Amino acid sequence: MRHLSIASSSLPSLIIPCPRCAMRMAFRSTSSTQAEPNFQDTVYACEQCGTEIVRTTYRAIDAVDPARAA
Ligand SMILES: [Zn+2]
Repeated sequence: MRHLSIASSSLPSLIIPCPRCAMRMAFRSTSSTQAEPNFQDTVYACEQCGTEIVRTTYRAIDAVDPARAA
């Protein structure tokens, strides 16, 4: 079995470039909406120019009924 070398970074594989200066944006915070707990807002901020973007991602909580997710 071959050992894969993985970068010693805990950063998510998702890299988001800043829409303003194209620098790599840094993870800032996450928050889930009370109305939709399966959706999580992840905030990324650019350390260069301070631009913030919010990505809304879906996260499965426990057993999610697939029929319920239209
Ligand atoms: Zn920027």
